[in-house]
Amino acid sequence: REAREAFVTLATNDTYALGCLVLGNSLRRVGTTRQLVVMVSEGVSESMRQQLAGLFNQTISVNVLDSSDTCNLELLGRPDLSVTFTKFHCWRLTQFQKCVFLDADTLVIRNIDDLFDREELSAAPDAGWPDCFNSGVFVYVPSDETYRNLLALAVTSGSFDGGDQGLLNLFFKSWATEDIKKHLPFTYNVVSQAFYSYLPAFKQFYDDIKVVHFIGAVKPWHHSYNSASRTVTPLPNTGHSQEFLQFWWDIFMDKVQQSLD
Ligand code: UDP
Ligand code: MN
Repeated sequence: REAREAFVTLATNDTYALGCLVLGNSLRRVGTTRQLVVMVSEGVSESMRQQLAGLFNQTISVNVLDSSDTCNLELLGRPDLSVTFTKFHCWRLTQFQKCVFLDADTLVIRNIDDLFDREELSAAPDAGWPDCFNSGVFVYVPSDETYRNLLALAVTSGSFDGGDQGLLNLFFKSWATEDIKKHLPFTYNVVSQAFYSYLPAFKQFYDDIKVVHFIGAVKPWHHSYNSASRTVTPLPNTGHSQEFLQFWWDIFMDKVQQSLD
């Protein structure tokens, strides 16, 4: 069973690929028994693909503008949806029975293999609007039919936030009310703002945190790192916890940086 279940992430360029490398190492560190898969598009360089191949069980090329797919042709007129579209490729990994998608800007702190006991579509509430799920961490079942239906909805409705999260929340719209088992605990996708918006809860539940998600324009790799003192200094007003940023950078320096050019 375990061979047919995978953690899946995505990079469309070499910068996000660095996030994938840290994420993959964080999953190995907690001893996952599942496969690791990274989807890459044409913006990821050959040398970076080789780095990814040394860590992930499979590196899968996805083509944003694949003319052999009729749904894709319709999307050619909607360039705003191209990144959205790229994440949806995860539904095409039908060699797997169940998967967990993780954004490249997530960091796994504790083992989360229990997520494979959940059903599609399981995800944690979004801190900004808790009746929507955050699409940085979700459990899903690969299916070509679901993929086609998602693209069809993208063409007819578009995404209300311009990203994948808006469209996925339209598609899986019963998530908010239908089945509480599909609500992952917030500890499976702790977004960075939670650290300052509800600090007492952050302290109280700190030991339960399983996945940290560095949402927003500033990503862990943007902060300044001092290699002499081996510490990261967070940029102001990002809400990123120094502690988890430091953890991201520790993994980056120990496991990733040495093997890059
Ligand atoms: N992504 C990517 N290239 C981009 C933007 C996004 O590969 O230029 C992928 C990456 O896996 C990323 C995910 O899409 O984690 C979602 O984007 P992001 O994490 O930046 O959105 P946020 O979580 O901040 O809303
Ligand atoms: Mn993200």
